[in-house]
Amino acid sequence: MPIDPTLPYDDNNIFAKILRGEIPSKTVYDDEWAYAFEDINPQAETHTLVIPKGRYVSWDDFSATASADEIAGFVRAVGIVAREKGLVEPGYRLMANIGRNGHQEVPHLHVHIFGGQKLGPMIAPEFAKRG
Ligand code: AMP
Repeated sequence: MPIDPTLPYDDNNIFAKILRGEIPSKTVYDDEWAYAFEDINPQAETHTLVIPKGRYVSWDDFSATASADEIAGFVRAVGIVAREKGLVEPGYRLMANIGRNGHQEVPHLHVHIFGGQKLGPMIAPEFAKRG
């Protein structure tokens, strides 16, 4: 179910548990600011998630309240993961879902990195506006 991104941070969300090491994940990258791991249900040949170490519900929350160091560290980590996975030359897609219309399911900010194949249109055809 999509979440309400205006709710307070829930320390029991699944990505908080991953950050605390309470449930397993396949680590891709880890530093002071960000953690990257493979999506459990990949939608593309490459489907990696990058999350900030801080307690942020969504992109909205993060962009409004995170420190400049946190934002820089997170954005740099996304770039590092994409480069280390060899995605730059063939190209890739970043996606951050926010709230109901964005169909965000986990209430801890995450950026999806998709790659390793052609990725098609930005919006699924059945939802895309035409004309
Ligand atoms: P979103 O709809 O943007 O909130 O995306 C949530 C993503 O988290 C989905 O792509 C899920 O497959 C992924 N996901 C959920 N639980 C786990 C988990 N335990 N480990 C890795 N990825 C997960």
